[in-house]
Amino acid sequence: MESWQLQLRRSLTEVKDLPDHFNMSVEDLFGVTQVFSMKITPYYLSLIQTVGDPLFKQVVPDCRELENHGLYTDPLSEDRDSPVANIVHRYPDRCLFLISAECASYCRFCTRKRKVGDSKKINRNLIHEGIRYIRDHSEIRDVILSGGDPLILSDQRLESILREIRAIPHVEIIRIGSRVPCFLPHRITPEMTQMLRKYHPLYMNVHFNHPAELTPLAIEALGRLADAGIPLGNQTVLLKGVNDNPQVMRLLMQKLLMARVRPYYIYQADMVFGTEHFRTTIRKGLDIVRALRGWTSGLAVPHYVIDAPGGGGKIPLLPEYVKKITDDSVVLRNYRGKTYVYKQTGDVSQHQLLNEDACFLKREQ
Ligand SMILES: *Cc1c(COP(=O)(O)O)cnc(C)c1O
Ligand code: SF4
Repeated sequence: MESWQLQLRRSLTEVKDLPDHFNMSVEDLFGVTQVFSMKITPYYLSLIQTVGDPLFKQVVPDCRELENHGLYTDPLSEDRDSPVANIVHRYPDRCLFLISAECASYCRFCTRKRKVGDSKKINRNLIHEGIRYIRDHSEIRDVILSGGDPLILSDQRLESILREIRAIPHVEIIRIGSRVPCFLPHRITPEMTQMLRKYHPLYMNVHFNHPAELTPLAIEALGRLADAGIPLGNQTVLLKGVNDNPQVMRLLMQKLLMARVRPYYIYQADMVFGTEHFRTTIRKGLDIVRALRGWTSGLAVPHYVIDAPGGGGKIPLLPEYVKKITDDSVVLRNYRGKTYVYKQTGDVSQHQLLNEDACFLKREQ
């Protein structure tokens, strides 16, 4: 098999290199790639069957990326929650650590598309500042390596960062967020997984959006990671024309489980500038969750979340399974839409609590 370095070097980075049969207007798209980097590995390009198919849409630039629909360049206000360069510290006990500017390919819908591919905005030379910040903040027990894509770094570079983080006593777990198993499975070498397993407890969240991305090569790479004892989760972005369909989503989740990956999140698409054409309604997302829960293995049902615009963090969304709560009973709806009643306990001391829960539910609606 070709080395991952060579595969990466052969990636398409210019519109004029796109295959002729894509019939793309180079002049129109040049402006887009001036603003938002393009890169497509030859491997991922080879998976595209037809112009405009779900894989094509994820990586081939589109003129609509320059349209202004009132969306934001930094929809999650990550820059505001960045105490030092490369760290996003929003939650009490964990933080993101952006250690790489590059990805194996660039997703057209990326939340950090203002930054990825730009080594001035995600600066590798500032990594020691991030490590110092984590060392100085003893409340951080979970460090999430992100970027860009951390697995684009060389084994040596990645290991030097992992070693330093692992040496910090209050860091309990390390996570890596990566789309490399999807875009460049060649990168998941036996040498890399041997190296990673020295830094347990290490978790990895991968990023697959469509069942066609789970090729034999990708499944093999995921197997190597799982064999190294790394629990694998998957984060999917709900995208119009890619996976906004209950059957496609169910097949994706089932294929992930067969590849030893536990679905973790489905994200409602963030309000990222230039991605209006990817956004779906929330109802669509709820319909998809409803089509999963009960109809297939509970293991195949991820949490559906919205990352709140402005930096409020992830907020879970659930179809309505609780129809009514009173002191006497709870009226529930099952996955088939049938109604069931659960009698409350006669222990009145608990009723106060339940009422508070009910108010809480109401407020959330
Ligand atoms: C998503 C995210 C995390 C991790 O969230 P979990 O729900 O723990 O997976 C941490 N920090 C930031 C800023 C995030 O966006
Ligand atoms: S791999 Fe992740 S960080 Fe890189 S472009 Fe895609 S979504 Fe953005």
